[in-house]
Amino acid sequence: MSARLPFGDAGPYLEERHRALQFRAFEVARAHFEGDEEEDDDAAATLAAVRALAREGLLSPTVPAPWGDLDLRSLVVIREALGYFSGLADTAFAIQGLGSHPVALGGSEAQRALILPAVAAGEAIAAFAVTEPEAGSDLAGVRTRATRAGDAWRLDGLKIYISNAGVATFYTVLARSGDEAGSRGLSMFLVDAAAPGLTVRPLQPMAAHPLGEVRFEGVPAHLIGEEGRGLALALATLDTFRPTVGAAACGMARRAIDEALDHVRTRRQFGHPLAELQAVQMALADMEHDLAAARLLVLHAAWTRDRGASRIPREGALAKLAATEAAQRVIDRAVQLHGGAGVMRGAAVERLYREVRALRIYEGATDVQKLVIAREMLKEKR
Ligand SMILES: Cc1cc2nc3c(=O)[nH]c(=O)nc-3n(C[C@H](O)[C@H](O)[C@H](O)COP(=O)(O)OP(=O)(O)OC[C@H]3O[C@@H](n4cnc5c(N)ncnc54)[C@H](O)[C@@H]3O)c2cc1C
Repeated sequence: MSARLPFGDAGPYLEERHRALQFRAFEVARAHFEGDEEEDDDAAATLAAVRALAREGLLSPTVPAPWGDLDLRSLVVIREALGYFSGLADTAFAIQGLGSHPVALGGSEAQRALILPAVAAGEAIAAFAVTEPEAGSDLAGVRTRATRAGDAWRLDGLKIYISNAGVATFYTVLARSGDEAGSRGLSMFLVDAAAPGLTVRPLQPMAAHPLGEVRFEGVPAHLIGEEGRGLALALATLDTFRPTVGAAACGMARRAIDEALDHVRTRRQFGHPLAELQAVQMALADMEHDLAAARLLVLHAAWTRDRGASRIPREGALAKLAATEAAQRVIDRAVQLHGGAGVMRGAAVERLYREVRALRIYEGATDVQKLVIAREMLKEKR
């Protein structure tokens, strides 16, 4: 079955059910997203992608099967397939998981019953709102204020670079609920997107992606989990989803390699196809090697988690770091091999070049992944 897919063998890391899902995700992604023009309205395109994925039954892996653990390898194979065809569809899929995961991890039974089935069915659209203008890599600097009024909470503050801002039907929001400095005063909240006092200002990133600022002015909010445990919930969510960012990067890089192969086989210079030039062959081999090595780290991280590891900070950071950096190098080389054709609007490699860039920044920039890896190394005593 997998022989028809471009991704290559995953060795022992995938089970038969993952291979079947990989095949199906690839077919669904090709049917719905191949050749999609980038549109001005990223919000409408995201809604359409969520609906298509829901109809095809592909959103259910974004929430844990009632309500145990996520199957990370299912997320990995789907994101790789979506990344191959459409960065926007990949984002639509991924944020359903990222935005709802704090509820899956720490929510009450009532919150889970309200949110998780609706996310899996595409009836609720999730967003994960932690970043602020003064709190990016350092989330302990979050200033959005949560004030208690009886049993209820209200939020005041500003979140920035929030995926699905304006599209989401709910937000999970990190806010300061106590007076303790740093991480201990932070809690996670569930907010209805239609709540009074919530406003959105759209932002325009370089590739198709629904993004915006979200302002909270006295917005009613519901605590998720224990007070003071917000940063732990946010970090556990990010930790879980990091390998899947790597998987999307692998899908994008694989697409770039396939585009480069098509191009160098047909483009003739100096009387021969480019593919016959040894320097071009060296470039192709470097691309394949870069991607193949990174992909193993992604599969390994997901497999480690699926075997029951509750946290995978080191494996997840290695996977995200390696795969997003490799994908950037691979896609840059693919653009180079295309020559002028590679930088023309509408060329697949041109789109990939813009799409892959944010993956090295969001959910922990590359330098932050390095800090996580080094911290884990320094903890070890041999
Ligand atoms: C397309 C896109 C989608 C996003 N979606 C979401 C979302 O859905 N929800 C959300 O909450 N956020 C989201 N973000 C925000 C994203 O998570 C942050 O941009 C990211 O964490 C970096 O924060 P920052 O932009 O404030 O950069 P900064 O933290 O200011 O970092 C700037 C640079 O400094 C480096 N740096 C920072 N600290 C250190 C250090 N200690 N040592 C070495 N280098 C360091 C960083 O690696 C980076 O290169 C999104 C961002 C983008 C671009």
